[in-house]
Amino acid sequence: MSETLENLLQEDRRFAPSPAFVARANAQAGIHADAEADPEAFWMTQAKDRITWFKEPTVGLDESNAPFYTWFADGELNLSYNCLDRHLAGSADKVAYHWVGEPGDTRTITFQDLHDAVCLFANALSGLGVVKGDRVAIYMGMIPELPIAMLACARIGAVHSVVFGGFSSDALADRILDADAKVVITQDAAWRRGDIVPLKASTDVAVARTPGVSSVIVVNRVGNDVLMVEGRDHWYHDLVADQPTSFEPAVLNAEDPLYILYTSGTTGKPKGIVHSQGGYLTGAVTTHSYVFDLKPDEDVYWCAADIGWVTGHTYIVYGPLANRTTSVMYEGAPNHPDLDRLWSIIAEYGVSIFYTAPTAIRAFMKWGDEYPLRHDLSSIRLLGTVGEPINPEAWMWYREHIGPPAAPIVDTWWQTETGGIMITPLPGVIATKPGSATLPFPGIGADVVDADGESVPLGGGGFLVLTRPWPSMARTIWGDPDRFVDTYWSRFPGRYFPGDGAKRDADGYYWLLGRVDDIMLISGHNISTTEVESALVSHPAVAEAAVVGRRDPITGQAIAAFVTLRGTVEGDDALIEELRDHVANVIGPIAKPKSIVFTPDLPKTRSGKIMRRLLQDISEQRQLGDVTTLANADIVHEIQAKADGGSDE
Ligand code: ATP
Ligand code: MG
Repeated sequence: MSETLENLLQEDRRFAPSPAFVARANAQAGIHADAEADPEAFWMTQAKDRITWFKEPTVGLDESNAPFYTWFADGELNLSYNCLDRHLAGSADKVAYHWVGEPGDTRTITFQDLHDAVCLFANALSGLGVVKGDRVAIYMGMIPELPIAMLACARIGAVHSVVFGGFSSDALADRILDADAKVVITQDAAWRRGDIVPLKASTDVAVARTPGVSSVIVVNRVGNDVLMVEGRDHWYHDLVADQPTSFEPAVLNAEDPLYILYTSGTTGKPKGIVHSQGGYLTGAVTTHSYVFDLKPDEDVYWCAADIGWVTGHTYIVYGPLANRTTSVMYEGAPNHPDLDRLWSIIAEYGVSIFYTAPTAIRAFMKWGDEYPLRHDLSSIRLLGTVGEPINPEAWMWYREHIGPPAAPIVDTWWQTETGGIMITPLPGVIATKPGSATLPFPGIGADVVDADGESVPLGGGGFLVLTRPWPSMARTIWGDPDRFVDTYWSRFPGRYFPGDGAKRDADGYYWLLGRVDDIMLISGHNISTTEVESALVSHPAVAEAAVVGRRDPITGQAIAAFVTLRGTVEGDDALIEELRDHVANVIGPIAKPKSIVFTPDLPKTRSGKIMRRLLQDISEQRQLGDVTTLANADIVHEIQAKADGGSDE
C-alpha cells in the first residue's frame, strides 16, 4: 500500500489515558498478552464468569466442521434470562432504559418492568403458535417494544430478524421471504423528524408478497389510522392484556440460532448473517464491559445507533442488558426539534458513555460548534465510534467538543458478521491515535496480508484478516452456506477475510483503509479512498468527502472527489483548486483529485455509510448497482446531473 498515509499521519498525535482513568479501568495492562497465551481459555473464562448457564459448557472451540466453527457447544442457557431474570434479585428497580420519544414523551423502564413486559409478550407470541426455531420479523422504530419483542423471541427460542424501520416495503418483503418468517411485529407508525413513517401500511404491502406470514402484531405508537386484517392482524396491547407476567425461559443450546440480521448493503446485496446464543453473548458482554469500561452501578450509557443494525443488537440490547447497564434509548432524529437534541439528552440524563458513528460526527461538525456548547456535557467520561473509518479531523472535533478533554475515544472496528468489536483501543490500557482503531481485542488474532496471503511487515498495508475463530463470529449466511464459505473463507483459506483493507504503523496499530474494492490504483500507486477523504476533511471548508477511482486512459484510475462543505461556505472554482492543492500538500501530488464535485450530501446506506460504488457508477457513467439500501435517492440524481457537467481539470 502507499507510503502516503505516513505523510498524512506525520504529526503522530497520541493520547495516553489519564492516571485516574487507568487506576479504575476494567481492563488491566497485560490482558492482551494473557489472552494471547491461550485465547480459548480466555474466552472460556469470560463465558463462565459473565454468563449464567443452565448447563455450563465443557468444550470451547470446535473446529471439526471448519469454517462452520462452534463454541461452547454442550452449554445450555437463555439470553433473556441473562439479560433480565438474573438481575431481579438485587437490581429489579434499577433503570434498564431511560427511553426518550421524539415528540418529548419519556418512559423509565426498570429491569423488573422489562422482565414483566417480555414475559407478557412471550406468552402472547406463544399463544399465536410461535415455537423454538420459528423466524419472527420485527419492523419497528426505536420504541421499547422493539427490545421487548427481541427478548420475547429469545425467551421462547424463536429466531428474530430485525428489519430497520427506515427500509421500504420491498426490502422488508425480501427479508421476510429470505428468512421465511411467520410473524411480523410492527407499529402503526413511527416518528421521524416530526413526520410520521407509516410502518403498518408498508407492512401490508410487504405481507401481500409473503404468503408464509400468518400473524401481524401492531404496536400503537402514534395513534395513526391503520387497516387491521381480520384473523391476521392483532393489536399488541390486546394480545398482552390478559397474559401472566411470567414465562419459563426455554433451555437452549449454545449453538441454537439467536437471530438473523442482514448486512447494510454497502458493497452489494445484503447477506442474512446468523448468530448463535452462547458464543454471541460471550462476545457481547466481554467487549461491552472492557471496551466501554462499563461500571454498571455508576454509568449512564448511550449507544445512539438504531437497533436495526448490529451495533444496536449487541450494544443497545444484549451486551448492556446482560451487563446490567442503565442505558438511554432515543426514538428520533438528532436534529429534531433542533440541532442540539442529542446534547440536551446527554445533559438531562447525565450520560457518561456515548457511542455513535463517524457519519453523525461529521454532521455535527457541519452543523457547527454552538450546539454542543449549549449544554453541560461534563458527565461524559468515554466516547466511542463505529461504522466507518473516522477521519482524524472528525476524531479531534469529537474529542474537543463532546468529551471533556480527558475522555478516551474508542474507535471500534467490527462488522455484522463478527457479532462484536474486534479491533479497538482498550481504555486505560492503550494510548489512542486519532484515526486508528489501534489493536485487536484480547483473544482476537488479526494480520495484514498481501494478495498471496503473506503477512505484510509493520509499516505496510494490505488485506485485513482475522487469523483464528472467536466466539461471537457469524455461524453462516441464512440459507446460503456456500456464500458464507465463498465470501469470508475462500480468499485466504483458514483465515477470515472481512473485505476491508488496513495498514499497520510502526507500533503495530491498525489503520482501516475502507473496503478493498475501494482502493484505487493511480499510475501504479495504491491509494486508499480513506486517506484522500481524510485529507479533504482536514481542510476547514470541508465537512465530508467521498472519493472513488474512475477509469482513466492515462493513469489507469483517476481520483474523483465529491465534497460537502461546512456551514455556509460556497463552493466555486477557486475552492476546487485550493482543495486539490491541499490534498497534494497533505499526501502528495499523486493523490490530487482530478475532479471535485460539490454536493449538499453524499449517497449513503440507511445505516449512514457512504456508498462509493454508486459514485463510481456515476463517474464511469454506468447504470447504478443495487440501491435497495440507499437512504437518499434524490441526491444520487442531483450528483449525476452535476457530474455530467463535470469540473475536470
Ligand atoms: P455489506 O457487507 O452488505 O456491504 P456493510 O459491510 O456496510 O454492508 P456492516 O456489517 O454494517 O455492513 O458494516 C461493517 C463494515 O463497516 C466493516 O467491514 C467496515 O468496512 C466498516 N467499519 C465498521 N466500523 C469501522 C471502523 N471503526 N473503522 C473502519 N471501518 C469500519
Ligand atoms: Mg460488510
